[in-house]
Amino acid sequence: MKVLLVFAHPEPRSLNGALRDVAIEELKAQGHEVRVTDLYAQRWTSEVDRADFLNLAPQAPLGPAAASKEAFAANALTDDVKAEIERLLWADALILQFPLWWFTMPAILKGWVDRVFAYGFAYGVGEHSDKRWGDRYGEGTLAGKRAMLIVTAGGWEPHYSGRGINGPIDDLLFPINHGILFYPGYDVLPPFVVYQADRIDDARFVSIAERLRERMRALASTRPLSYRPQNGGDYLIPSMQLRSELGASGATGFALHLNEAEALPVFERSLPSGLMRGG
Ligand code: FAD
Repeated sequence: MKVLLVFAHPEPRSLNGALRDVAIEELKAQGHEVRVTDLYAQRWTSEVDRADFLNLAPQAPLGPAAASKEAFAANALTDDVKAEIERLLWADALILQFPLWWFTMPAILKGWVDRVFAYGFAYGVGEHSDKRWGDRYGEGTLAGKRAMLIVTAGGWEPHYSGRGINGPIDDLLFPINHGILFYPGYDVLPPFVVYQADRIDDARFVSIAERLRERMRALASTRPLSYRPQNGGDYLIPSMQLRSELGASGATGFALHLNEAEALPVFERSLPSGLMRGG
């Protein structure tokens, strides 16, 4: 496979830097071709502004979405953004690697998404009508490719569990996994998360590195998260609400958008919904 790793840590000698090297080494050992976008090293510009849109008239007001649409269609995005779009099209798998900062990705990585996921490329794709709401959430330009996160967090694992004070890690990462990666079509793999990342001795590093190597070895075969595709019949158009008969009764929030039946072993999928986990 061709793998693009987008790296967002300012220090190559950090834990993140060491884990990036482990991941790349293992991917290459498996015969994969790897490219790295190192956002701090290449001094990535993270703000969207007029300079992004080479065909925007100097006097015209800047509407970022409209300007993005026009510049993408006219091939008038900046060279740095075009190069990243080319890399995304090249890669069969995308890895975003970052330390959790204020419960999400560092600003530089968000700025990479803001600028590279252009209108007509990552959103605003496909037919928008009373029958279809575009090609998104499982469909779109990047459909058929895989994506996963490598994340380090200072907090403890139980702090990120179902009842943990930080909120469940799957909820915190939902806007990235579902909103940024599944939206333009990626099959999203479960994240690789390192907890208590500020205190790591050599022995723990060895075991974390081995777990990461395992995940890299399984990059092509790991089962994606079972997010529900938008256009597979689970959602009403145009309200885009999950059909009332789906999901656990009374449930709201992020977990609704995982198809639990899909995640179950095949023999359990045939049970009446009330007998299913969470049914
Ligand atoms: P480093 O500081 O580089 O290293 C961490 C540990 O790994 C050290 O013990 C180091 O000795 C060891 N190590 C490094 N390299 C190696 C190696 N090659 N071999 C063996 N050991 C090694 N955490 C949260 O949980 N939630 C938050 O919301 C959050 N917000 C933050 C906001 C900011 C602005 C900052 C700065 C931190 C925040 N943190 C948060 C903590 C942050 O997630 C961690 O500091 C970060 O994940 C640690 O990763 P690092 O690569 O920076 O580690």
